[in-house]
Amino acid sequence: MVLFEKAPAKINLSLDVLSKRDDGYHNVEMIMTTIDLSDRIEFHELKKDRITISLESRFVPSDERNLAYKAAALFKERYGIKAGVHIKIEKNIPVSAGLGGGSSDAAAVLRGLNRLWSKNLSLKELACLGAELGTDVPFCVYGGTGIATGRGENVELLKTAPACWVVLAKPNIGVSSGAVFQQIKLHEIEHPNIEKLMKALDKNDFSMICAHLGNALESITMALHPEVRHIKETMMQAGATGTLMSGSGPTVYGLAMQESKAQRIYNGMRGFCEEVFLVRLLG
Ligand code: ATP
Repeated sequence: MVLFEKAPAKINLSLDVLSKRDDGYHNVEMIMTTIDLSDRIEFHELKKDRITISLESRFVPSDERNLAYKAAALFKERYGIKAGVHIKIEKNIPVSAGLGGGSSDAAAVLRGLNRLWSKNLSLKELACLGAELGTDVPFCVYGGTGIATGRGENVELLKTAPACWVVLAKPNIGVSSGAVFQQIKLHEIEHPNIEKLMKALDKNDFSMICAHLGNALESITMALHPEVRHIKETMMQAGATGTLMSGSGPTVYGLAMQESKAQRIYNGMRGFCEEVFLVRLLG
C-alpha cells in the first residue's frame, strides 16, 4: 500500500519564552499557523521490519538522524508494529529556517503511519507521541492555528487566521534553535502581547493581528545575524502590513491582505534575498 501526507510549514505569529525548567528546556508560549509551503511525504509499506528514508537534500540526513525516521521508530516501538516502511520525502521547506520543516515531517509521519497501519489514534494521541520528538511537533500534528504552551506539548486550537498572503525571505544562513535558546537572558526578554494577539485572532482583525506579532527570540537572532534585521526593515519598507522573524529564525515573513501588494513585496525582496517565497496562509 502507498499513502501520501502533506507536511506544511508553520510560522510563529507569536513566540514568548516564560521560564527555564528543571529539565533544561524553556517554558514557551507560541501562536503558530500553517502556510501553503509543504513537504510531501510518501509511505510505502515494507514486508521486512525496517525503516528506510529517501530524500534529495544536501542539508538533511536520510538515516536515523532524520526526524521522520525518529517519528516512525517511535510509532513502531510504541505500538509494537513488526512491519516496515519506506518513507520518501520531497523537501520543499527550507531547512533550519524557523519554519518547522523537520517537525512537520515528523508530524506527517505520525499521521501517515496511523493510517497505513490502521491504528485509529486521535490527533490528540498522536500529538502526545509527537511531544517526545520536539517542541513544534504536537502543533504540527494538528496544523491550522493554535497556541502551544509548556515545552510545546499543550496545544489549543484557535479560530482560523485570516486568509492573507505571506512573503517569506530567508537569508543564506541556517540558525540552530539550540544556539539561540542558549543565549536567552530571561530578565532581558521583550515579551510579546499574546493576549492582544489572541483577541485580534478571535475578532479576525487583520490589522490588529499585524500590530501584535511578536517574537522574544528575534533580538537574539538579530544580534547573532544582523542581516535578519535588515531583511525585516526592507520587508516593512516594501509595504508589508506586519513582519516578524519566525521561530528562532532566520526566515522573516511579511503579511499582506491583497495579492497585488504581496506580489510587490515579493518582487522587492527577490532582489535582496536569495530564498523568497510567496504563499497563502492556510491557518
Ligand atoms: P524549528 O522552527 O522547529 O526550530 P527549523 O525549521 O528551524 O525548526 P528544521 O528545518 O526542522 O529547522 O531542521 C533543523 C535540523 O533538523 C537540521 O539540522 C536538519 O538537518 C535536521 N533534520 C532532521 N530531520 C529533518 C527533516 N525531516 N527535515 C528537516 N530537517 C531535519
